[in-house]
Amino acid sequence: AYERLLRETRRLVRRSDRAELEMTLLNQRLQDLATELEYRATHDPLTGVLNRAAIIERVNQHAQQQDLALIVLDIDHFKRVNDSFGHPVGDTVILGVVDCLQTTVPANAHIGRVGGEEFTVLLPQREAQASEQVAQAMREAIESREFKLPDGSRITASFGVSHLSRGGCFDDAYGLADEALYVAKRGGRNQVVRAAGSVLHPIACSH
Ligand code: GH3
Ligand code: MG
Ligand code: MG
Repeated sequence: AYERLLRETRRLVRRSDRAELEMTLLNQRLQDLATELEYRATHDPLTGVLNRAAIIERVNQHAQQQDLALIVLDIDHFKRVNDSFGHPVGDTVILGVVDCLQTTVPANAHIGRVGGEEFTVLLPQREAQASEQVAQAMREAIESREFKLPDGSRITASFGVSHLSRGGCFDDAYGLADEALYVAKRGGRNQVVRAAGSVLHPIACSH
């Protein structure tokens, strides 16, 4: 009877070990899924940069702590790429532009896709002139990249840069940068324009 009890106990211990292992694996899987879900909710599926909601949140978070610069850029005559060579080629151009941005921005920058072929780059604690230099470097990287389009044409982008003082919010900085971007487009594209003013006294932030 003692031997039988011992065998039964060992069997129960083995079963419990197996159950514990299964539980650990399931827990790990759950954590992986939560991480994946978080990633998908905050990243653009095509390019892997932050999506619109995530970059806006990131800017607003940073603005609570410190000054920042915002660069808004838009690919020039992008419709022509889609119309001439098709949407998939357009997608490869978007990926190429993101690659240019990623290799040019400083390590503490955040890149977001705010619209189809429009991106926003958050530069923490950057002076207006230093941010303009970053934007110029991006512009040059895109201009000189070989996109291998069927007709050999090149790709360019236009840039608007704004500066936001601590306490401001995304809408303020984006509005100014977008105005500057519009001036860059009207001025002939493939250029960087710095917003004239900076948002110094944010009053209308809703958070
Ligand atoms: P501009 O120089 O004034 O910016 O001209 P544009 O042709 O770039 O501007 P417009 O806003 O007219 O065109 C943007 C186009 O981007 C229209 C839309 O079909 C295309 N687009 C938006 N998202 C995507 C995408 O994910 N993939 C591709 N291939 N095209 C996209
Ligand atoms: Mg556009
Ligand atoms: Mg465009």
